[in-house]
Amino acid sequence: MTQKTVLIAGASRGLGLEFARQYSIAGWKVLAGVREPARAVALMRVKGVELFPLDVTSAGSLADSAWLADEDPLDLLLVCAGLYGPDTAGFLAPGDADFDAVMRTNVLGPMRVIQTFGDSVAKAGGRIAVLSSAMGSIGASTQTSGLLYRASKAAANMVVKCAALEYGPKGGTVVALHPGWVRTDMGGEGGELDAYTSVRGLRSVIEGLEAQANGGFFDWRGEALPW
Ligand code: NDP
Repeated sequence: MTQKTVLIAGASRGLGLEFARQYSIAGWKVLAGVREPARAVALMRVKGVELFPLDVTSAGSLADSAWLADEDPLDLLLVCAGLYGPDTAGFLAPGDADFDAVMRTNVLGPMRVIQTFGDSVAKAGGRIAVLSSAMGSIGASTQTSGLLYRASKAAANMVVKCAALEYGPKGGTVVALHPGWVRTDMGGEGGELDAYTSVRGLRSVIEGLEAQANGGFFDWRGEALPW
């Protein structure tokens, strides 16, 4: 059987790291993009993972890693890089620096990553999954907490939708995924799930995606979420 390849954008910690672990154990070739490879100690310990430098907000960094798509057909592209930003309550407009950092990471990041590798994934009939959040669901939101993060993930969802329109007809399947509230640096200790359980669920959702799921928004159990 041919070895499958996954490229993970943002694999130094949290869910990206756990995806790298689980896909490596499952026998996949894992290409793991991290901002500072020399500091990604936990990832280095995962057998068989190929680290490469990647800042999802940097056009130059993506241009430097674009060659990876020529080496192997990409069966799966995972965009895990994300930033929560200020943990606000109520309707609090962010400062310019927070706005730029969160929007660049959560919106520009997936745009650039998908633009760079989308054709390679579509050509292989593969999948593209962006880790979004239920906090970005306009239909499901009932709170104002984390206003900037919510707005960024709602925008990321539109990035996914447009990517689905672009790459679906070329053979790819593009989805937004909500991992649940997970105990990572971002989710904190109060999270409902550990990273292992979330990623195991997300892998099974990704594995089961049919072509008609293109442009969908699902949680880690496979439940469809409203945009
Ligand atoms: P963490 O904060 O634990 O990890 C964030 C990861 O993103 C780190 O690996 C970080 O790298 C990387 N990253 C941030 N900015 C960049 C960048 N510019 N280029 C490359 N990598 C970058 O987050 P989680 O693992 O918990 O979250 C992963 C995704 O899941 C995020 O998109 C998040 O919004 C989403 N999510 C998480 C939830 C949770 O409960 N944890 C809930 C809902 C959604 P570095 O080490 O260099 O900082």
